[in-house]
Amino acid sequence: MGPETPVTLTVENADLGASTKPAEKPKPTRKEIGEWRARNFTVRHATVLACDHKLDLRHFPTNSNCFDCWYAFLESNPDGVASVHELLQQGGTKALEAMHGKKFVKMYGKYIQKKLLGLRDATTSAEPSLEVLDIAAEKEESIGIR
Ligand SMILES: [Zn+2]
Repeated sequence: MGPETPVTLTVENADLGASTKPAEKPKPTRKEIGEWRARNFTVRHATVLACDHKLDLRHFPTNSNCFDCWYAFLESNPDGVASVHELLQQGGTKALEAMHGKKFVKMYGKYIQKKLLGLRDATTSAEPSLEVLDIAAEKEESIGIR
């Protein structure tokens, strides 16, 4: 990667009234305003502290093998995580994989796991056994038959 080049903002709206349409220009839609703001003001690039990678929150991490990047990305996209959760509930892992690919499924799984572990730590052993253990026990019972 090269040195950081300063962002140059060019004034593209200078010909607003001058060129074409008469005074009755329709108000810009919310979408248009949003796009304009995104173009001119919002810098969505951040650096992930854990790994020092640059992260563009509008896209999946460029360093797609770096879990720190994915963690930061998902943490910053609660809406995205919510919709992924919904997709998982409706179509399962298959649907998620079809939409976002294997890598995403893997990284998302890791992310959720980390969140769950964090939750367990936070509750300070109020509920010592996690569901995973119970599931294993159930399996043993059903396999063993008596
Ligand atoms: Zn990274």
